[in-house]
Amino acid sequence: MKTSILAVGTELLFGQTVNTNATFLSDKLNHMGFDVMYHFVVGDNPLRLKEKLSEAFLDTDLVILTGGLGPTQDDLTKEMVSELMGRDLYLDEKVMEQLMGFFEKRGRKMAENNVKQAFLPEGCTPFYNASGTAPGFALSVDGKTAICLPGPPRELKWLWDNGVRAYLEQFMDKKMFYRVIRTIGIGESDLETLLMPVIDGQTDPTVATYAKEGECTLRVASQRDTIEEAEAAVDEMIERIDALAGDFIYSYDDEELKEVVVRILKEKGLKITSAESCTGGLFPAAITDVAGASDVLSSAYITYSNESKIKEVNVPAELIDEYGVVSPQVAEAMARGALQRAGADIAVSVTGYAGPEADPGHKAGEAYIGYAMGDQTGHYAVNTSRNERKWNRNYILLRMLRAVYLLIR
Ligand code: AMP
Ligand code: MG
Repeated sequence: MKTSILAVGTELLFGQTVNTNATFLSDKLNHMGFDVMYHFVVGDNPLRLKEKLSEAFLDTDLVILTGGLGPTQDDLTKEMVSELMGRDLYLDEKVMEQLMGFFEKRGRKMAENNVKQAFLPEGCTPFYNASGTAPGFALSVDGKTAICLPGPPRELKWLWDNGVRAYLEQFMDKKMFYRVIRTIGIGESDLETLLMPVIDGQTDPTVATYAKEGECTLRVASQRDTIEEAEAAVDEMIERIDALAGDFIYSYDDEELKEVVVRILKEKGLKITSAESCTGGLFPAAITDVAGASDVLSSAYITYSNESKIKEVNVPAELIDEYGVVSPQVAEAMARGALQRAGADIAVSVTGYAGPEADPGHKAGEAYIGYAMGDQTGHYAVNTSRNERKWNRNYILLRMLRAVYLLIR
C-alpha cells in the first residue's frame, strides 16, 4: 500500500528537533510491506498542513501524521484532518475519563484546554493512549486513510505497539522480510559491480546498497504471500551474494563490526590489547561500548608521543629514527610490544596522521595498522586521501577492527 508520512511541528523546520518519528515509522512500515513513498514535514500552520495532506492523498492511500495533537492553540492536526475529510468532532467519553484519571493520579488540576484532546472525528478508530494525554486515531473516508499520532516519540512508540500495528494489518496483502548485510573493505560502486549478476534485472528479492561512513550495507528484501516464503527467498539470495562478495561481509544480521569482534573474541576465549597513536583510545572505547567487553579486553595503550611508544610498548628508538614514526615497521613493533607487555592473545596498533596536517612527505589520512597474534605479525597500510580529522579517525578505527576481524574470524 502506498504510504506517506507527514510530520507536523515548527520545531522540526527550525532544526531544533530531529524527525525521528519519520525514521521510526518508515522502518516499521517497510518491515510490514508498506511502500513508504514520501516524507513530508510541515510547521504548525493549518493551511499548509491541509495542503500537504491533500497532496499526500493524491499519490498515496495511507498517510500517517505525527505531532500537533497537544492541548495548545497551535496543535491543529486533528482539526485539519477532520475538516479535509469532512467529519465533525465529537467528545469521546473514554478519552475524557482517561484524561481526568491522568490528572487525578498526578494530583494536578486538568487545564481547560486539555478538554480539547478528548474530541475525535466522527467514525474514527481511536487509539487510546495510556502513556500520555493525546489519543491517536485512524480515519478512513473514500478509500483514503489518515492515522494521527502524538509527537512525543515515546508516546508514538507506545501507540504503535498498542493499537496502530494491529490496525494496519488489515491493509497487508503481502508479507515483507529483509536482512541487512554489512560489509567492510569495499566501496559501494565496487560492491555493486561485484554483485551485478544478482542485482541486474532483479525485482524480488531486491538488493540495495547503502554507503555509510567507511562501510557499505546491503539490504535484501522480499515480499511474498507468507513470511516463510519471503525469508526463504531472502536467504537464497544471500547465498548467491555470499559466493560473490563473502570476503567483505562481516555480518548477515545488521551487527556492528565492534559487536562482531567482541562476540568472536569471547567465543574463542581470546584477550585483546591495543597501542594507538592517531586514534587516541578509540579502539578500547569501541570495544567497551559492547556489553561483555571485560571478558575480552586486557588493556590498552595510548602512545601518542615517540617517547611513550618507546617507554610503554618497547618500540626501539632506532626503528623510529630509521623508518619514521608513521611507518609499517613502527606499527608492527607497537603491536608486538603491546602483546608482550599485556600478555594478551592479540594486539592491534596504529600510527598515522589523522589530519588536517601531516609531516613533510606524508599526507593526512596516511596510517599503518599493525597486528600481532602468537608468532604472527603484520600490517595494513591505510590511505584515506582526506584531511578531515574526525572522518579519518573513525575510518582508521574501522580498519583496526577489520584487521582484528580478519585474524579471528
Ligand atoms: P506535539 O504532539 O506536536 O505537541 O509534539 C510534542 C513533542 O514531540 C515536540 O515538542 C517534540 O519534542 C516531539 N516531536 C514532535 N514531532 C516529532 C517528530 N517528528 N520526531 C521526533 N520528535 C517529535
Ligand atoms: Mg507540536
